[in-house]
Amino acid sequence: MININRTLTYILIIGGMIAMTSCSNSKTETGSQSSAAKTVQTASSQTETAPAAEFKKPEEYGKVIALTFDDGPSPVTTNMVLDVLEKYDVRATFFLVGNNISEGTADTIKREYDMGCEIANHSQTHSYMTKMTADEIKAEIDFTDGKIKEITGTVPAFFRPPYIDVNDTMFENIDKPFINGFGCNDWDDSVTAEERAQTVLNQAEDGAIILMHDAQGNDQTVEALETIIPALLDDGYELVTVSELFHAKNITPDEDSFVYSNVLQETPW
Ligand SMILES: [Zn+2]
Repeated sequence: MININRTLTYILIIGGMIAMTSCSNSKTETGSQSSAAKTVQTASSQTETAPAAEFKKPEEYGKVIALTFDDGPSPVTTNMVLDVLEKYDVRATFFLVGNNISEGTADTIKREYDMGCEIANHSQTHSYMTKMTADEIKAEIDFTDGKIKEITGTVPAFFRPPYIDVNDTMFENIDKPFINGFGCNDWDDSVTAEERAQTVLNQAEDGAIILMHDAQGNDQTVEALETIIPALLDDGYELVTVSELFHAKNITPDEDSFVYSNVLQETPW
């Protein structure tokens, strides 16, 4: 008991020190997690990641955009994506498929989290969920939420429907905002890295969510990132997580009917 208390005290002290030293940095995480859970996680992994409360004020942001990656984690390709993000000191959001979460990919998820990336829910089985019952839909979400919570201590704030296949039963039974995004056909091997990069850059706009894939072997998207990220930075964009994107625009996401590709959109699609 004494040891546990000492450990907890240590964690809280270190967590407090990190919180004090990270006020001016823009590293962010999901807005849904409790600050206590975040503090413990941050301290135990010895990284510096500010909780949502330490986002900048909305008026302090310029143009913002969110890079997102689906269908991971994969042990090799996801880490290649993270290497590029790290090189440019930017963050992204990863929509995980629950059945891809295992002992073999847990370290990759921890790395995403420790880098200040956001972890989101992309179902358990990556199936057409409009064909499912309410109970089946809930089970898909709960499975992936539970797997992620085991690793990061936090529950994802956002959901991306597999194949962007959506119906009312899903809206009624999934208690998270639905995220789509601007894609670049990067699931198709015949689309080159250069074409992927150009498609993303052509669609870039303030408030946009970009949809790519970090599935195993998707090397052309890793290569495209080497064009996409510096070009967006040169164009004055801040690359943020999905939670921070909504925060930067001072928007509370609609969970009942919207499928967001840009947080500024005024219609559900
Ligand atoms: Zn997918």
